[in-house]
Amino acid sequence: MAGKKVGVLALQGDVSEHVNAFSTALGGGGEVVEVRSAADLAGCDALAIPGGESTTIARLIAEKGMRDAILSFEGGIFATCAGMVLVASTIDDARVEPLGIVDIAVERNAFGRQRDSFEADIEVTGLASPFHAVFIRAPIAAAAGPGVEVLAEIPRGIVAVRQGKHIALSFHPELSGDLRLHRLFLERL
Ligand code: GLN
Repeated sequence: MAGKKVGVLALQGDVSEHVNAFSTALGGGGEVVEVRSAADLAGCDALAIPGGESTTIARLIAEKGMRDAILSFEGGIFATCAGMVLVASTIDDARVEPLGIVDIAVERNAFGRQRDSFEADIEVTGLASPFHAVFIRAPIAAAAGPGVEVLAEIPRGIVAVRQGKHIALSFHPELSGDLRLHRLFLERL
């Protein structure tokens, strides 16, 4: 994976966990940078959009004039939780303007208050054994378009998808110490 430059959108959310996870996954061969402006994104091979609050991240993307740069970005996008909400083509919450990068319809906070957070071992296409997934006020994809490969689904709905270079996840792979999904993503850049 040497030589890849991964940007982590650093406007709000669990930025440092993503920086650490990608730094480890790259094994010192690549570079991880925090992205706070359109200029920071130039030269990146990938952009991680972290978990956090999608309403806040969407507002900051707009305020900083980064929307067009993200939409025209040619690298892969690794979107987790709030990031999955942002990259979707439709969102069940009018306050968050979808980027429309991954053709999924998402529902925010799909697990309700009593199950705001939970962990589960899930089967993921491409991984030889289950992945321990940490869900925190997680969204779900209720539907995925024809160009989208569903990587994981639980009874409530779709929780992991891939579209071209992009991967979107309902859960937080940067929190479970298992970097197989990061590697799966980096392999396709
Ligand atoms: N519920 C949050 C949102 O929709 C996402 C939560 C998270 O990223 N852990 O923005």
